[in-house]
Amino acid sequence: MTPGCRRAALVAAALLFALPVAAAERPTISWHPAQPRVGDVAWVHVQGAGDTAAIEGALGARSLAFFPYAGGQAAVVGIDLETKPGPTPWRLAVLETGREPRALTGRVTIQRRDFPVQRLTLPTGMVDLDPETERRAVAEGERLRTLYRTITPERLWRGRFVRPVVGQEAPTGFGARRVINGKPRAPHGGADYAAERGTPVVAVNSGRVALVADFFFPGRLVIVDHGLGLYTLYFHLDSVAVTDGETVDRGQRLGTVGATGRATGPHLHFGAQVGAARIDPVTLFSLDLRD
Ligand SMILES: [Zn+2]
Repeated sequence: MTPGCRRAALVAAALLFALPVAAAERPTISWHPAQPRVGDVAWVHVQGAGDTAAIEGALGARSLAFFPYAGGQAAVVGIDLETKPGPTPWRLAVLETGREPRALTGRVTIQRRDFPVQRLTLPTGMVDLDPETERRAVAEGERLRTLYRTITPERLWRGRFVRPVVGQEAPTGFGARRVINGKPRAPHGGADYAAERGTPVVAVNSGRVALVADFFFPGRLVIVDHGLGLYTLYFHLDSVAVTDGETVDRGQRLGTVGATGRATGPHLHFGAQVGAARIDPVTLFSLDLRD
């Protein structure tokens, strides 16, 4: 071994020795679930970033909105139902005054989920729209998408999410690739609870009523803003018991099941959006954030 080689070996040994110290300063990042499926709600927990640090970041193209949680910070993220499965990069920036911003990156593997194909036959008047109705439906859809992109900066929900309809079994149809009157249409973005007209519909968590409206496809609807980009949707209602801007508690009655809008019979179309990602709303019930 030449003296030069020996020096290089010593430097390498010193670097190895220094690694654990550098690693100790690195915040720990954990994803829940570790490998979310397409359509899941997931969350990331950042610990050890420092009490005064602000955290920004994204999973793929979706921004993360962090809130204080369990001695660290957490952010909820939606895996949209049309997400391409596979390894997906995430990046975080830890920002503290008086310190260099710290960048962290990694990958989360998103698992595929197979969705059924649902063939429906509907009256042509509900499918092939006249130009005026078409314009109305497009404008209403745009209004909803604008709402889902609006991020209320504070978190309005706490603890567990409850079912929107009491006493009903698991809903059906989330993510179904729909073929209506023989033509492929947009996938079904919510989950449908079969229930009798008049069955009470309740808020699944606390929040603020973001919209009460009567739209062509969703019919009479209520949308609850839970803050930080999380919204829950209640469509085809027969009656509505809340008003725009009203604060609601978990379990508070929002209205009753109906068949308004494009519905083949009385049911609740229950949906959820996180940062404008369409998620399976049922996955909110097993969200393991507890506070
Ligand atoms: Zn539906």
